[in-house]
Amino acid sequence: MLDFDEAQKRLSMAGGRPAETEDVALAQAAGRILARPVAAAVDLPPADNSAMDGYAIRLADFAPGYRFPIQQRCFAGQAPQALEPGNAIRLFTGSLMPGNADTVVMQEDCDEADDTVEIRQAPPQAGWHVRRRGEDVTAGRRLLDAGIVLGAAEIALLASQGCTQVPVYPKLNVGILTTGDELIAPGNPRRTEQIYNSNGPMLAALAQGMGAHVVHTLHALDTRESLERAFATLLADCDLVITVGGVSVGEKDLVKPTIEHLGGTLDLWRVCMKPGKPVALAHARGKPIVCLPGNPVSAFAVFTLLLSTLVRAMQGRGVLMPEVRYGKLLAARTLHETREEFLRVRCEPSPDGLDTLRPYAHQGSGVISSLPWADGLARIPANTKIDAGDPVAYYDFSHWLA
Ligand code: AMP
Ligand code: MG
Repeated sequence: MLDFDEAQKRLSMAGGRPAETEDVALAQAAGRILARPVAAAVDLPPADNSAMDGYAIRLADFAPGYRFPIQQRCFAGQAPQALEPGNAIRLFTGSLMPGNADTVVMQEDCDEADDTVEIRQAPPQAGWHVRRRGEDVTAGRRLLDAGIVLGAAEIALLASQGCTQVPVYPKLNVGILTTGDELIAPGNPRRTEQIYNSNGPMLAALAQGMGAHVVHTLHALDTRESLERAFATLLADCDLVITVGGVSVGEKDLVKPTIEHLGGTLDLWRVCMKPGKPVALAHARGKPIVCLPGNPVSAFAVFTLLLSTLVRAMQGRGVLMPEVRYGKLLAARTLHETREEFLRVRCEPSPDGLDTLRPYAHQGSGVISSLPWADGLARIPANTKIDAGDPVAYYDFSHWLA
């Protein structure tokens, strides 16, 4: 059986990184992967300006009880005059600093009357409430690395530089194939011997949640013909094909022979993990095909822990393995398994700093109700006795599925 960490590493290397880039408008860039590093074109802020509503003065002119004549009221977006000796200029947050001024006194510390202002509080200090040109970003500085996911924060930074277009990798085109004679799409009348297909919508949502484009979600019956037809479409239109079910050793598990019949090469791994033992990686027509186990919880766990690394690699991301955290397992029972076990857990903060991980009561691999409940997967090492309260590794869905 293949070691879990080894399987994870192999999957992360199973597909090519994107060969091309495209430019998108900044407003369309959320969730896309930056394809080139970005350096600052301009200083931020581009000029000295006021951090407060207040008055710009020259500190040297201050004396207790002195009333500064107000030379100008300069709003944000207006050009200030040069400050005359002994005067003050009324400023607002974001107003440019007038020439000769060195300090802003906030209005709460001032008393304005008859076009003059007196500073009532203790003597101001040089440079108060001035945001200096370039104090945030200096032109030329590296702002963002290639391979990051563009979110609101990165988009704000790019917009502040005046960017309108941003170079990104093309969206990864994913195809999904569910298999099984017993499955029926939601929305159709269901016979007693049928179940609704939950893996199709689940995998589409997982792929979309990572920023991939789901080109097709197809379903095949457990026949060669049906599978071959689906693969022909998926391999023609997609960069990465994900299949689910039909990859075990049952008589109707025809995914593996079908891929081989299509000329694909296939490694079936028995990965040392529970849930999710049978995982296959194939290549056909130069494209990776990852075959997930059929049980919905197994498929979800294998997507999270293994397949997500390949999706990230093929998207061109810099980080393929998100952070693994640690928490204290609150297990009423002591676990002992010959495979790494991944428990659906809820993560809760605890006063001593190490989060607590509470397992879902029913850990069966078909228990779909555990998925919306859980925050992530706690890793229980194989052949290791874990007592309640012991620290274990924890894969947070919010990191691993992002
Ligand atoms: P298989 O690997 O095809 O033998 O499937 C294992 C289990 O997962 C069986 O109980 C299947 O009915 C179930 N299963 C497979 N695919 C799906 C699916 N798309 N939606 C819901 N359950 C599925
Ligand atoms: Mg099946």
